[in-house]
Amino acid sequence: MTDTMSPTVQPIVRMQKLNKHFGSLHVLNDIDLEIVPGEVVVVIGASGSGKSTLIRCINGLEEFQSGTLSVDGNTLKPDGKSSKALQTIRTEVGMVFQQFNLFPHLSVIDNITLAPMKVRGWSRSDAVATAKRLLDRVGIADQADKYPSQLSGGQQQRVALARALAMEPRLMLFDEPTSALDPEMIGEVLDAMRELAKEGMTMVIVTHEMGFAREVADRIIFIHKGVIAEQGTPEQLFDAPQHERTQSFLARVL
Ligand code: ADP
Ligand code: MG
Repeated sequence: MTDTMSPTVQPIVRMQKLNKHFGSLHVLNDIDLEIVPGEVVVVIGASGSGKSTLIRCINGLEEFQSGTLSVDGNTLKPDGKSSKALQTIRTEVGMVFQQFNLFPHLSVIDNITLAPMKVRGWSRSDAVATAKRLLDRVGIADQADKYPSQLSGGQQQRVALARALAMEPRLMLFDEPTSALDPEMIGEVLDAMRELAKEGMTMVIVTHEMGFAREVADRIIFIHKGVIAEQGTPEQLFDAPQHERTQSFLARVL
């Protein structure tokens, strides 16, 4: 838990009046968002409301057309004119996707060691030691030499989490990390995320797992048609939503 009111804490994400269009479609509309270190923010909203686009902007996977965005002091400019900052942000921000996006031709251990060796310049032995520690932490130390296709979805997603953590990210983004999983595997991935939150990782999570959101989030953000329609603590959002849009969304999903 973080005291978001403290004036001395510098935000790790600072987004001001950010606008994003896909052609004529205005997907994000004047988004203002600040996230402080250690904060766990859950983003909820209907399909197509702009949740994925919002978090993809944070690690530079999507360009935006106006506004400002800085991540850990690295400022991205509109329309992608900021390649150096972009490179830094990509190494500092980890992301876990709905589809695990593992490299199918690489073993679990090689999936995890690739970026630390290539991007961070770690030795193979250092990278392997870190990978093994992370695999142990997500509960699949015995799967190191398997290939992704030999693992269950829940195991693959935990490898994806370990792979992101191997880069020692300052911030972790999750885009519906359990939506592609069979129900019996959702818990093991949420458990790993819960542990990470407890350890103080700064996290932005798009999820439909409302019980999990209530439990781990410091703040819930409800997005409606590219606008932050309402935000607050889980208690505020879930127990006393102020806006009709939030109320009708929650009535459909809770
Ligand atoms: P959510 O994650 O909340 O379901 P998205 O951020 O994926 O929503 O999408 C927001 C809107 O932007 C949707 O109308 C979607 O169709 C549109 N969109 C997303 N990605 C693209 C793209 N690459 N090109 C054009 N339109 C897109
Ligand atoms: Mg999405």
